[in-house]
Amino acid sequence: MSRGNLIFMREYIVFVEKVIDFFLPSQCFLCHNKAFGNNVCAECENLVRFVKPPYTEENENSLILKHRSLALYEGEWKKLILAYKFSKNLYLSKDFLRFIHEKFTDVNFQEYDFIIGVPISSNRLIERGFDQVDFIAQKISHKYKVKYVRNALLKIRETLSQNELNQQQRLSNLKNAFILHEKHKNVFYNKKILLIDDVKTTGATLQECAKQIQLAKPLSIHSFTLAYTPLS
Ligand SMILES: [Zn+2]
Repeated sequence: MSRGNLIFMREYIVFVEKVIDFFLPSQCFLCHNKAFGNNVCAECENLVRFVKPPYTEENENSLILKHRSLALYEGEWKKLILAYKFSKNLYLSKDFLRFIHEKFTDVNFQEYDFIIGVPISSNRLIERGFDQVDFIAQKISHKYKVKYVRNALLKIRETLSQNELNQQQRLSNLKNAFILHEKHKNVFYNKKILLIDDVKTTGATLQECAKQIQLAKPLSIHSFTLAYTPLS
């Protein structure tokens, strides 16, 4: 097929999708009203507290230079993340990607050399049937053409849920839980790394992963999470 025909086909498919959407608008996952091709309607989107710039700068002891979260981990946003993570509603990733694109207008993803995901343990993977961070990291990598290194970090032992622990317990819970895969140490040297996770609470998990990435002496480590729990 010629290039001209390919372009025509692509435009035709987009047109057909729009026509279908006009007659059969998709339903909002949260309130079941019309969502016009999305899974989250405009009204529900308005209930989400997206994090606006300036984003939190990490403190000077942090190995992470800059962190960004998309929205506060509460209400409708929390419902979406839980439904994605625990009930395997993978199609919601489309809306996460849409919001990343719309809200992070100042972020140039292409400045990163590599994307790395915070790993889950093999037991969690079996239990959940998929790795929620791996899935979204792949989507971001594909959309912004940034290389994603799957399994760059490995979770080598089970940890307790961070939510049930105090600050001190959280740190010891995560100690030596992650390792950087030996074969990537040279690859990340002097490179800009974007570390991705689903939810940031104290940031202890991101720090523990950054400690391992730091062994490869990267140029910088930034991090991104879909949500952020304000510390009480
Ligand atoms: Zn809605």
